[in-house]
Amino acid sequence: MTDLSGWLRQGVDAVERWQRGFADHPAHPCQQVDPDRFRAAFAELTELADNYPYFHPDYAGQMLKPPHPVAVAGYVTAMLVNPNNHAQDGGPATARMEREAVAQLAGMFGFDRHLGHLTGGGTVANLEALFVARESHPGKGVAFSAESHYTHARMCQVLGMTGHSVPVDAAGRMDLDALDALLAKGEVGTVVVTAGTTGLGAVDPIHEALALKERYGVRLHVDAAYGGFFTLLAGDERIDPRPWRAIARCDSVVVDPHKHGLQPYGCGAVLFADPTVARFYRHDSPYTYFTDADLHLGEISLECSRAGAAAAALWLTFQVIPPTPDGLGAFLAAGRRAALGWAELIEDSEELDLYQQPELDILAYFPRRGSLSAVDAASARVFTDGMNDKADPVFLSVLKVDADAFGRRHPGVTADAGGARLLRSVLMKPESEARVDRLHRRVEALAADAR
Ligand SMILES: *Cc1c(COP(=O)(O)O)cnc(C)c1O
Repeated sequence: MTDLSGWLRQGVDAVERWQRGFADHPAHPCQQVDPDRFRAAFAELTELADNYPYFHPDYAGQMLKPPHPVAVAGYVTAMLVNPNNHAQDGGPATARMEREAVAQLAGMFGFDRHLGHLTGGGTVANLEALFVARESHPGKGVAFSAESHYTHARMCQVLGMTGHSVPVDAAGRMDLDALDALLAKGEVGTVVVTAGTTGLGAVDPIHEALALKERYGVRLHVDAAYGGFFTLLAGDERIDPRPWRAIARCDSVVVDPHKHGLQPYGCGAVLFADPTVARFYRHDSPYTYFTDADLHLGEISLECSRAGAAAAALWLTFQVIPPTPDGLGAFLAAGRRAALGWAELIEDSEELDLYQQPELDILAYFPRRGSLSAVDAASARVFTDGMNDKADPVFLSVLKVDADAFGRRHPGVTADAGGARLLRSVLMKPESEARVDRLHRRVEALAADAR
């Protein structure tokens, strides 16, 4: 078990001990606060009723969960010093931790060389990957699947590049024949493949895309913001290892430790296989970079100031729960088993239908009805009724799909609408595994009540 308040105490003590090593100095009177005002404001802050219970296994909705207490202890302790990982001048200790943790991420993906750093999240990490793509393939566009994260189309706009949407197959994975036909036109310089789509957790066939990289000389960028840590299960019979092993031969990869890496927001990461892409970041700063001859983190990233505390949190977590199959992998394996277990229950259910087999730990399902409009209405009912049941709440999320995608999977349901809302559960807490039977019974009952 964990002892968060004890660890936080140790962190506060350690920082105060360190501070006492410097000449004593009085605090300025303006640092004083009125204790009553603090108490009142703090009481309002700690009135958490207006949040969903992300920590609880009955919260089976969006990809949200609290950070691991080890990460919190690392974050808070370093944050008391408040290092800035932009440059060695801002945080030599946490800059070193960032390099170590990033090297562990690179090792996890099988990169033997790398250039990389942490970011505020997957959005900025992907922006950086596309920025490098633009510099290395000037004048060319970017291809991404229709089910990739919306950030790619948006960042193409930011970067002044043309984005090309590629259709997906009946399992939500990029259609490589369509990609091949697009690449043959010669307008695309970079392909974004997704290892775990945000909606369904679909994994694009990265291993097959490698052949197209060879044939057309395109860059291959992997958006593994959500799914990246599932590479730890690539040796497990419950996961197809081929796309994960192929990441080592791609040009760049993004992974979000603040999703499956037990970290608080914001902690993303971008890794490049070719360290010489550092040349695209070259810039000068008249007030920084004087304390080290090596490239500072700020010299290889687009963001300037960044929390050194985020690096400390990830570093400490990886010391205790390393990114290995037996370490962090155990968390993902439990979620994967939960998704498979619930999928099986849904397949045997009279009330619910599985939208498609889960590839990772994201499950999409819907109340059994004869038409799309009825599926949509029943899903919406289950979603709100579950959340609003004060005595026995269950928290799900909703996924909107179009009639064509639905019809490819369930042709028997009458397409009387342009699309439908389904139910979606991201089972990213290891505790979900022990809760699946209960979640299933609860959602079945809600679906029956929605008739
Ligand atoms: C979450 C996600 C992003 C965006 O990352 P943020 O950390 O939310 O900025 C990009 N791509 C995929 C596949 C994601 O799941």
